[in-house]
Amino acid sequence: MSIESRIVIIGAGHAGGALAAQLREYGHRGPLCVIGDEAHLPYQRPPLSKAVLKGAATIDSLSLKNAGYYQEHDIEVRTGQTVAAIDRDTRHVTLAGGEALPYDYLVLATGARPRQLAVPGAGLDNILALRGIEDAQRLKEALQPGRRLAIVGGGYIGLEVAASARALGLEVTVIEREARLLARVASAPLAEFFERLHQQQGVQIIRNACLSHFEGDTCVTAVHLEDGQRIDCDVALVGVGALPRDELARAAGLHCENGVVVDGDARTSDPAIFAIGDMSWRPLPVYGERMFRLESVPNATEQARQVACAIVGKPRPAAEVPWFWSDQYEVKLQIAGIPFDADRQVVRGDPAQGKFAVYHLRGERVVAVEAASSPLDFIAGKQFILSQAAVSLEKLADMSIKAKEAALVVA
Ligand code: FAD
Ligand code: NAP
Repeated sequence: MSIESRIVIIGAGHAGGALAAQLREYGHRGPLCVIGDEAHLPYQRPPLSKAVLKGAATIDSLSLKNAGYYQEHDIEVRTGQTVAAIDRDTRHVTLAGGEALPYDYLVLATGARPRQLAVPGAGLDNILALRGIEDAQRLKEALQPGRRLAIVGGGYIGLEVAASARALGLEVTVIEREARLLARVASAPLAEFFERLHQQQGVQIIRNACLSHFEGDTCVTAVHLEDGQRIDCDVALVGVGALPRDELARAAGLHCENGVVVDGDARTSDPAIFAIGDMSWRPLPVYGERMFRLESVPNATEQARQVACAIVGKPRPAAEVPWFWSDQYEVKLQIAGIPFDADRQVVRGDPAQGKFAVYHLRGERVVAVEAASSPLDFIAGKQFILSQAAVSLEKLADMSIKAKEAALVVA
């Protein structure tokens, strides 16, 4: 570790951008270069499926920092450039154009890419994915009032875009393979709540739906399901998950599972290389020996802090509870923790009122909380997860008692 070290960050996304700023804030003053294959300075993606589509945020407003900040802090940001290889022996990265850049520490922050569907017709025009600014611009252009949008995948992307598209006056159908929405990321009570909410807003939802093929000459005109159903559409959005961009790491021989394996400092199997954000397979100390791939902004910024501390020689920051959020219509969903090994659920509040929480517990310990427009439950739940305090299930379910007062007092 050294504040003078040469650092190269591959990926000018949320994690890479946050790390560059964090390093300077913590006193690092060696050469610092961030290389990104997109044409933009590091920016936030969450508004792409929400405010940007609805026209409530401009592309310029998404930047984490403006160009002046990087100049002032002597951070070289190379946009529109792709790293093609890593040479661990000589500690160089090679750009697609052939230029080689030396490093003392290398940080991989290459994010994730949308999973693609391998069905006939998947290459037709107007079948779109959403990951970056250009994708959002294409999608916004296609989302004209009165058009019919078919969304494949009832996860975060699918549901957030459904809400934005309804606000823009499109007819929307969501096609989900699983028996319920948000299958990968949320509980059954929450999925039912969001299904009702979307239906009330006029979205058609088809579950247990296996995609067969897309129809169209040049542009998509319909989505066909294996059971024979046909959904006519003018535009289709595919949001069926994201895969870690770990191919550089694999080619360089780093240990990878579902993403690049890192430790609590976000260090890979090579001590000179770190990996952060969506592409890392990381420990979750709050859950013992668990490893996981988190795809969220809080994860990107937490791991950026871990690396900055490791490089400048600060103590490792305290372990955080993973958390997530999603905005759909007027509902703010906040999730703290992951319901590993949960054996019971407590629903607090009334989903019909649009404000409630689902606590996931193992015995008397909270392991996760999902809060729909209920920030106090989110805060209380996060605290319970961190403290591992035993709680009373009866008190937790009782709306006349504050959630934070559900902890059992040990005599
Ligand atoms: P990214 O931000 O994807 O950055 C990785 C960058 O590396 C990209 O620019 C990529 O092009 C570049 N790159 C990859 N390979 C190379 C290479 N070889 N050479 C050079 N550059 C390379 N999270 C939330 O917590 N809340 C939300 O509400 C939310 N909403 C979202 C909405 C959308 C539409 C999307 C797409 C994501 C959303 N997320 C949300 C997830 C969040 O944006 C990601 O978790 C976060 O961006 C991860 O940061 P990252 O730096 O790991 O990856
Ligand atoms: P996601 O949340 O994993 O959801 C994908 C959904 O598509 C899952 O429900 C999945 O079901 C389903 N699916 C997979 N294959 C399918 C198929 N062939 N036909 C129909 N459905 C299928 O991923 P996403 O919504 O695509 O989001 C992509 C990335 O953006 C993720 O990193 C996500 O975290 C991020 N993002 C986050 C937010 C947020 O945090 N608010 C918002 C937008 C985007 P299975 O469970 O069966 O695979």
